[in-house]
Order: sequence, then structure tokens, then C-alpha cells
Amino acid sequence: MAGRIPQAFIDDLIARVDIVDVIDRRVQLQKKGREYQACCPFHTEKTPSFTVSQVKQFYHCFGCGAHGTAIGFMMEYEHMEFIDTIETLAAELGIEVPYEQTSHSSSPNLSPLYEAMNTAVDYYQQQLKSHAASPSAVDYLKQRGITGEIAKHFLLGFAPPGWNNLSDQVSNTPQCQAMVSAGIISQKDNADNAQYYDRFRHRIMFPIRDKRGRPIAFGGRVIDSEDNPKYLNSPETPVFHKGNELYGLYEARQSIRHLERFMVVEGYMDVLALAQNGIQYAVATLGTAPNEQHLKILFRLVKDIVFCFDGDKAGRKAAWRALEHSLPLMMEGRQVSFLFLPDGEDPDSLVRAEGQQAFEARINQAMPLSDFLIKHIEQNIDSSTTEGNSRIAELAKPLVQKLPDNMYRELMVKKIADRVGLESDLIIKNLDLDAKRNDNSMNNNKNTTRPQTGINQNFNNPQKNIARTPVRLAIAILLQNPEYATNLNNAEALIEVNLPGMSILVEMIEFCHSKPNVTTAAFLERWRDTPAETHLGKLSHFSLPGDEESIKNEFIDVIEHLINLRTDNGRRAFLEQKHSTERLTDAEKLEYNQILMGITPDKP
Ligand SMILES: [Zn+2]
Repeated sequence: MAGRIPQAFIDDLIARVDIVDVIDRRVQLQKKGREYQACCPFHTEKTPSFTVSQVKQFYHCFGCGAHGTAIGFMMEYEHMEFIDTIETLAAELGIEVPYEQTSHSSSPNLSPLYEAMNTAVDYYQQQLKSHAASPSAVDYLKQRGITGEIAKHFLLGFAPPGWNNLSDQVSNTPQCQAMVSAGIISQKDNADNAQYYDRFRHRIMFPIRDKRGRPIAFGGRVIDSEDNPKYLNSPETPVFHKGNELYGLYEARQSIRHLERFMVVEGYMDVLALAQNGIQYAVATLGTAPNEQHLKILFRLVKDIVFCFDGDKAGRKAAWRALEHSLPLMMEGRQVSFLFLPDGEDPDSLVRAEGQQAFEARINQAMPLSDFLIKHIEQNIDSSTTEGNSRIAELAKPLVQKLPDNMYRELMVKKIADRVGLESDLIIKNLDLDAKRNDNSMNNNKNTTRPQTGINQNFNNPQKNIARTPVRLAIAILLQNPEYATNLNNAEALIEVNLPGMSILVEMIEFCHSKPNVTTAAFLERWRDTPAETHLGKLSHFSLPGDEESIKNEFIDVIEHLINLRTDNGRRAFLEQKHSTERLTDAEKLEYNQILMGITPDKP
């Protein structure tokens, strides 16, 4: 994926997607007049103030100020990066994203690695079907109740016993080095006479796929119980970073169109057994404890995450670490809970023994994060005494402080207050949360970097701080009504007017002339990642009083006003700026003095 995406492709994409489709697929919209409405997905409200304009291809929330294009919505709502958003929207339209190949591009070409992975997946699948030694693997899977259908869904395979099955096949092919880089075969140190051997031997192979379904690594499980280690994973490679991946995520998304929850388990066989028994939303970390990155990935897709752990001491400890990683991501509507299994059971054995219904009943009764948190801190503390209760509040403090400042935290504080029999206010004071709140707002004020979105800017009063200058007014009207540029044939005169923002206005008019059917969204995407982005975002929902006709007249007036500026004020500012950096000619000095004295100078 070397290079950047050409701007022309993004222009084209934004012209082809319909923001109403994109948002309606995620937040159900109601048609209200010319626009669409819903309760805002970015803040809590009971009456809809989230508005989507099909004409402008733009959304805006009057409650919290959130606004943007279809691309911006996806980035915010799905918590996706820009490139992933473009890929997703393009895929929904069935078009391929072109990447500019730049010679100085530093990203290496990874396609040989993906191809090597595909070759290996095919090879291992073939061995599972036909290798003389494969019946032991097939028997193992059958004993665990895994059908051919599930084996195929997860691309299961078999690495035969012996050191040189796959490596002999590829050692003299161009794919050999990619196989080594992908961690499928290994190279002996011997440099002059390179020798290769298979990393995975006599194992059931579980391909690990990335979010687009491409195999990027393997997990291999032993068949003979004496073999070691029980599980062997691919090493870290340029395409595989185990801390960022979850086994079964792609398969779950394939199986369930509208995922509502994920359950995080520990092993490949747990994921398979659960899927085999109708629980298709299980994913497993890859030999690592669940981390914040895993949670972010899952919260992009669902609001409900259940962690499944052994009920023993080690399981509780691992669950507590998962809780600590969850805290910074908690907000209203999100739910994290913990399912502790009976001693000696894992999800694989348990779901096979008791079936889907009984297992899902356990999931539904999993312990909510808040209960687990309180239970954990109050262990070994006598909560019947005042001392005990203040100790509980003390222990809760660093945990509650990890929660973002939102409704979820308020509810958590309330819950702790109820538990220890104190008023929430006292707890808040005790937890020092007010102090933290102030710190946050100070940090926010100091933070002058470009915000990702307009959310929470000028809360409840999005128009505060925007002075209504003629250039801003012209830009705002044009942003919201790009068709007004069509009849503008004196725009080049504006270039001479030296006012802040004028170059953007001129570029916007030129953009409209170069492309048919420009929308508000097309402007915003054209100026994404430029210094003008934030201003344009605000101006795109700057409220313009009056009906369509009067706004159109206002636009004509303001453009005329700006063009006139080039003869006096604009000219004066231009000359002043020139004077500050270079010498004015005698004619210019005369002109400047005439302007100051109010004499209309001769046209230069
Ligand atoms: Zn909102």
C-alpha cells in the first residue's frame, strides 16, 4: 500500500457516496423536510438535533456541534483512520482505491508476504485433506466436534511431520525469501549454502487473518500431546503484530452482519468450538493479555464486550488487567463484563458439554465491570465500618480517575457512593475528581493543535467566536451553496484583493468551475489536513439568515463588495503589506497617499 491516495479519487469518491446511506446504515435516520434527523450518536440526547443534509452531503449536530462529511462521520463513528475509511467507502461502492507510487515512498512492498501467506494457507489446507499423516489431525478436530464447514470457514490446515515438507517445495522458487520473511519457513545460519526448514511441523494450522481477511500469520497446535510447545505462533513480521490482532475477528464479521457483542477468549480452539456451537462472536488474543489496542478495535464494531476467563486466581488476575485497560475507553452505552468459568473448564469444553443456550445464559449473566471493580477493591476490607468504607473510596480513586470525564464516570461514582453509604458529592470530593476536571479543561485550552473533529467546540453555541467578515460570509455562502459559483464570471478580480482567506475563496470558486456538482462535502475533503480545515468546518454550518433568494443576493452583494475593495481598502492593505517587506515604487507611494487622503486614485 505504498504512496498516497490521489485527491482526484477522493473528489470522485465523495461525489459518488451518499452521506444519507452511509449514516443511515449506522444510525437510523428520519426524513424531516429536505433533511434527515436522528438522535446524535456523539452526545446523549432525547430529542434529535443531529441533522444530515443530502444536498450538502454534510451532517451537523446543533446540540454538540459535531459536523463533517461522510468520510468524517466514518472516521468519528467507526473510529477509523482516514485511509481505512476511504478503503471501506470504496469497497461499499465496489471500486478499488488507487495509490500513487512515489519513488521516495518509504513503505516497503508487502504483497510478496501476503502472497507467501496465501500459498502456505493453500498448502496446509491441501495437506489436511490428503497427507498420509493427516487422519490424526482430522480425528482431533472431529473429537472436538469441529465440522468440515467450520474448518473451511477458518481455513484450518495441517502441517505434516518432518522438517522439509513446505521448504523443499519452495526453496528454489522466487517465493522462498518471502516465506522466510513471513515466518513460515526458517533459514539456517549457514550463509553460502542456504538451507531452509519448516517452522511448523506436525501441527494443526490456524491461519490468523487481518481485518480485510488476508492471512497474516499462523497459530499451530500440536497433535501429539508430548510435543512442545502446545501452541506455536508466527513470529512478528512486517504484516503481523500480535498485539494488534485478534483471532476470529474477520470470521465473526463474515458470519454476523450486525454484530452486537464480542466475547474475548484465550485460545483458537475456544473460538472454533464456540463458533461450532452457534456463538460466532468469540475472538482470541494471540498469546498476549488483552490490551487497550484490542479493546479499541472491538469498540469500533460493538458496544458490548465480554471477557471470558478461568475462575481461578490466574484468571482473576488476568481479568483485572483487562479491566484496567478498559477503564480509559468506557463511556455511556459501552459495556464491559466478565465471565468466570467453573474450575477446570474452558469455553471449548464447556460449550461442548452444555451447548449454546446454557453457555449464552452464562454470558448474559456475566459480571459488569462496575461490580467487578467494587468486588475486587473491597475484598479483605470490612465494609461494615467507616474506616473500611473510606479505604474502599481510597482504593477506587486511581481507578475512577482513569475513566474519561463523562456520564459513565458519574454513574460509577454514584455506584461506589451507594456501596460505601456516602453521598456522591462527598465521594467526588474525596476522589479529587473536580481537580482532575479542571486540569483537563486547562489542558484542552492549551492544546492548540488541530482537533480531529468539531465535536464539543463551542459547546451549545457553535457560532460563538466566528466574526462575520465579508470574506467569511462569502466562503460560508459558497460552501453551503456551491452552485452560486456557476454564474460568477468576475472572480479573477478577487485575486487582487489582499484580505485573509481570500486565496481560499478564489480557489473554491476555481474548484467549482473545474468540477460539476461540487457539494459542501467535496470542499471539506479538498481542504482536509490543511490549515483552513477547521475554519471551513465551522463555516459549513454557519447559519445564514433569510430564504434562498436573499442568500443568493447576499452572495452577489458580498462578492461585489470584495471586488470593490481592490480599489481602496484592499489596495491600501496590499500596499501596506508590500511596504513591510519591500520597497514601494514612486507611483505606489503616490497611490497610497491618495488613498489615505480619500482621493480616488487612478487605476494602476
Ligand atoms: Zn451531538
